[in-house]
Amino acid sequence: MRPVIRGNHPTDGQGNDIVFNHYSKSRGPLIGRIGEYCSYCEMHLDSSLAVEHVKPKKHNPEEELHWDNFLLSCTNCNSTKGQEDVDLNEYLWPDTDNTFYALQYEEGGLVSPSDRLNGNPALKQKAQDTITLTGLDKQPVNAPAASDRRWINRREAWDIAVESKSDLVNNDTPEMRRQIIRSATARGYWSIWMTVFEDDADMRRRLIEGFPGTCNACFDANNGYAPVSREGGQC
Ligand SMILES: [Zn+2]
Repeated sequence: MRPVIRGNHPTDGQGNDIVFNHYSKSRGPLIGRIGEYCSYCEMHLDSSLAVEHVKPKKHNPEEELHWDNFLLSCTNCNSTKGQEDVDLNEYLWPDTDNTFYALQYEEGGLVSPSDRLNGNPALKQKAQDTITLTGLDKQPVNAPAASDRRWINRREAWDIAVESKSDLVNNDTPEMRRQIIRSATARGYWSIWMTVFEDDADMRRRLIEGFPGTCNACFDANNGYAPVSREGGQC
């Protein structure tokens, strides 16, 4: 899950906080900050991108219009997460934690808690609970008409990333590297690309810079852009 920076409340030309009279009005500013991607499954969405309340508005009506309570999500993540009240401290969040550090991605588009958390069972449990909350561990099923296509799209992204890496071996030019970033940003699933290009620091840097609002402080530029703990976060 890509760690993102939502940034401070958007302001108008006079420096005053823009008042959102409906939460949907925040969609544009959110897209400008963190791009047209689901904050949880990382799918790129040209449409149907919902303003997601981290703390559901049903249980937290006072935060219905709070900028700090907004992310973007697809309909599948949004509906899986649902309206159940959540204790923020029981889960990991892409706007406050290094959620890439906490989750791992594998061939087939499978998502699980990262082995990095093996020494910290409590944190590992939170990573698992985060996956369950958003439904990122839904089992692949052979159902061409399934409406929840997140795992299928993630698997495809994995395969394309692997092919791209192979192409790069045969034709390693700055143009090819830029083209791969264009493919990645058009498709989404940043974490998949970051995983496949784990041993290529230059590509990792390009991926961090290419997806708007990625928290670059979550990665160590002196160590191949390996994920590091996020300041102020649980991981
Ligand atoms: Zn999603």
